[in-house]
Amino acid sequence: MTDLILRDLVKRYGDTEVLHSINLHVAAGEFIVLVGPSGCGKSTTLRMIAGLEEISDGVIEIGGNVVNNLEPKERNIAMVFQNYAIYPHMSVRRNIGFGLKTAKLSKAEKNARIDEVAGILGMTDLLERRPAQLSGGQRQRVAIGRAMVRDPAVFLFDEPLSNLDAQLRTQMRLEIKKLHNRVGRMMIFVTHDQVEAMTLADRIVIMKDGHIQQIGTPSEVYHNPANTFVAQFIGAPAMNLLAGEGTEGGVKLWNGTNVPLEGPGLAAGRPVTLGVRPEDLQSGPGEGGALSGVVTVAEPLGSETLIYVDVGGKEIVATAPGRTPPAAGDHIALNLSTTGLHLFDEASGVALT
Ligand code: ADP
Repeated sequence: MTDLILRDLVKRYGDTEVLHSINLHVAAGEFIVLVGPSGCGKSTTLRMIAGLEEISDGVIEIGGNVVNNLEPKERNIAMVFQNYAIYPHMSVRRNIGFGLKTAKLSKAEKNARIDEVAGILGMTDLLERRPAQLSGGQRQRVAIGRAMVRDPAVFLFDEPLSNLDAQLRTQMRLEIKKLHNRVGRMMIFVTHDQVEAMTLADRIVIMKDGHIQQIGTPSEVYHNPANTFVAQFIGAPAMNLLAGEGTEGGVKLWNGTNVPLEGPGLAAGRPVTLGVRPEDLQSGPGEGGALSGVVTVAEPLGSETLIYVDVGGKEIVATAPGRTPPAAGDHIALNLSTTGLHLFDEASGVALT
């Protein structure tokens, strides 16, 4: 089985180091999503795996072999780009078959491969069409088909959905997930969209400024973020971060509220940040909650309503019921549940729990 190892991977452009000692071990068949804000180094990492960028330092191993100096076509990988280049003058069959251009197979063998891939992608009836006669989603499938036809051990996706409209994105996201279930190959997917990361990944790699911030399952990075960056990057709207300091039995928030809490590293007087997700705040009318204030904006989403509450000058977001939501101007009391509280060191942002 083919696994992939990145060991102390470094990328420099001239004197500027843009990737700093990246370490990652991906198991055969795993779906990994690299996610982070623009410029964090996701695409560079992917392109180094593909063999499209030189490696400044470190090692990439695929299936136990160091591939640092191998040409892209010798690495047993296939890449699907954002601007999937499919040829308008070629039929779907020839576009998919383009992936086999250099393969030493007979015409009959190539056609059998194309038919098999078209079958998996549900495109058997479309093989003689030109790209202009396809929908956006079908064109995307042709691009994936061209990657699949070579039966690579690793699929690399560089923001393949970002040019699609919202509805098609959701649909293609589901298709890629189903495809992964069917073909069982390792997939490494780059996106800046945390929802795509959460929905697709077996494990998410969250990056910032050329460093990995956390590697974990969607549940791990959501429920146990390693630091305040991950806490705010994963989940929308973002986790509320509240300033406070440690006390004998918990945390005293900036507004004077005492929150009973136990945690390692929670010493009296230590500056800390308390994190709480919008859905972990219970809202009710009136005042006297741990955090009370006035609703400045209510955003109805149907199933629930997001309320933005001004608590002594600090804006806090919470979820409220969809059917009987509070309105702007209402006085609201927000209570912290005992679960769902996250504690971070104030200076470093690193989780203390
Ligand atoms: P992402 O994919 O996360 O948006 P990239 O991997 O494209 O980020 O870029 C990572 C960093 O490397 C950015 O700071 C970017 O400006 C820099 N970078 C990318 N390509 C080059 C290049 N050819 N020359 C110099 N710097 C580059």
